[in-house]
Amino acid sequence: MAATRPKLNSEAYRIVKVKEDAFTKSGTVLPSNFSIVYMGDTHIGMSGCSQSPESKYEQLLKKIISSNTNGDILCIVHGGDATDHGIDNLQIFIDKTWKTLYDPYTNDKDKIPLFLNTGNHDFKLIKVNGQVTNYDLTAFNNLVAADELFKSDPSAPHPDVQVVPLNKLYLRIVLLNTGYGNRGSFGSVDIGKFEKEIKEIDKWMTYLQGVSNKIRFIVDMHIPPQIGTIGNGNPSHVLNNQYSTLFSKDILDKHYRSMITVSSHHRHCKPPTRYYDPHYKFDFFLTAAGGNCDTVCGGKCNPKCSSQYKYPYHAIRVNYNYVKNILAVDPIHPYDIISL
Ligand SMILES: [Zn+2]
Repeated sequence: MAATRPKLNSEAYRIVKVKEDAFTKSGTVLPSNFSIVYMGDTHIGMSGCSQSPESKYEQLLKKIISSNTNGDILCIVHGGDATDHGIDNLQIFIDKTWKTLYDPYTNDKDKIPLFLNTGNHDFKLIKVNGQVTNYDLTAFNNLVAADELFKSDPSAPHPDVQVVPLNKLYLRIVLLNTGYGNRGSFGSVDIGKFEKEIKEIDKWMTYLQGVSNKIRFIVDMHIPPQIGTIGNGNPSHVLNNQYSTLFSKDILDKHYRSMITVSSHHRHCKPPTRYYDPHYKFDFFLTAAGGNCDTVCGGKCNPKCSSQYKYPYHAIRVNYNYVKNILAVDPIHPYDIISL
C-alpha cells in the first residue's frame, strides 16, 4: 500500500487546498480565522529513550487532533529532524503520520495535513576523511518533497525550497532548507548553495509583493537564525554568523513588512518560545521537541536543562486572523502550547 501513496507533502498539499476552499467559501468578505501548528525534532530512531520517539510523536499528533475542536487548524508544519538517522526511519515517520492524521473515513476538510521540512538529521552526510563533502536528500525527495511545491509560482525560488501557495488565504508557507550541516555550521560545500537559496527567495518575494501586497509569508527553518531569544545563548546550535547575516540582510530586512511568522526548531533544550521582534514587528517561534528522546534533555548532552524544561514534548499552535483585511497573528490570543 505504501508504494502507491503519493509523497507526504503532496498529500498534505492536496488536503490543505480542500481546507483552504472550506475556509474561504462562506461568501463573507474575508476568509475564516485559522491556526497553524508548528513542531519539529521527532528523531525517530534515537536510541536509549525511556519511550520510543514514534510513540511520543503519535501521542502529540493525537493531542493536536483533540485540540482541534473548532476545526480551525489549517495544517501542521513539522520543521525537520523527523528521523535521527535520515533514510533509515523516514518510512516509519511517514507511516505514523499517515495512520494518525489521514484516516480514510474522515473527510479531507476535517483532516489536519502535515508538511515536513528538512532538518540536519534528514540528510545522509557524505564524508571524506571525516569532513562532510556533500549531503544526500534522495530518500527525502523520493518520499516527502512534493514536486508541485518547488514550482508553486512563476519565478519560483531555489529548487531546494518548497513553498505552499494559498492564494485564497493570501499566504505562502516557505519551507526553507537550513539542514545542510549540523549545528548551522555549514561546510564550505554549502556556502554558495545557501546564498543562492536566499537570493532566489528574495527575488521571488519581491515578485509576489508586486502581484499583491496582501500576500503574507510564513518561513519555516529547521535551524534558528541569530535573532532575539530564539537565537541567543548557544551559538553552536543556531545559523552561524555568515548564514544568519545572509538571512537577515536579504529576507528579514527587505521583506519583514510582509512576513508574519518565522518558525524554527533544532534546539531541543529550550522550552517552546515566542519572540516578538520590535524592529521587524513580527513573531519568531521556537519549538523543538515533537517527540524526541527524553535523554536529550537532562541526559549526557545537557545535564542542566531538565529542570528548566517544562514541556518535554510540545508543539506551538499559532492563531491567525485578518486584521484590516491583512493576515496577522491574532493580537489578542497569539498562540497556545500543546504539550504532553
Ligand atoms: Zn536538528
